[in-house]
Amino acid sequence: MSETVLKIRIYGDPALRKKAKEVSKVTSEHREILSQMSRIMYEQSGIGLASPQVGRTEAMIVVDVGQGLYKLINPKVVKKQGIQALEEGCLSVPGVCIKIKRADKVLVTALDDNGKKVSIEAEGLLACCLQHEIDHLKGKLIVDYASFIDKLKIKKKLAALEKKAKNDILSEAKNKSCQLQL
Ligand code: ZN
Repeated sequence: MSETVLKIRIYGDPALRKKAKEVSKVTSEHREILSQMSRIMYEQSGIGLASPQVGRTEAMIVVDVGQGLYKLINPKVVKKQGIQALEEGCLSVPGVCIKIKRADKVLVTALDDNGKKVSIEAEGLLACCLQHEIDHLKGKLIVDYASFIDKLKIKKKLAALEKKAKNDILSEAKNKSCQLQL
């Protein structure tokens, strides 16, 4: 597992649209992925990262909004209250920022990286971030919340990202097909 290098998937990569699967038993492999995800999140100056963003199908997220690092498996929003609207970006949709209405307070249940049940009462930025990352596990992205005007504004950017993702996938396939590329 330690040899697997995870990298951030960009808009247009089908991995971002796949629904993540519940983890039935937490193992050292999950802990290793969560560590790598945390490292990537900090390297990219992100405040959250979800498994589909690094091409994994196990339902896992990492979040750190400055109140400590959460490594969560099978996270679910079980209670919502109030409304907030923050401008959100996403490491998988670089250059795009969308104002999204979400619950201001949430109760999230999950497993920690030892498989222990945890529940987190969050509000404000932490609540926003948890909802954003849990969306990723359903294959949902910030662009899905875009208004008609937003969509017009980001159309070109998204097309460029999509083209780049396609080229990256093609060149990756080419690299994998043969050791020697002459
Ligand atoms: Zn995101």
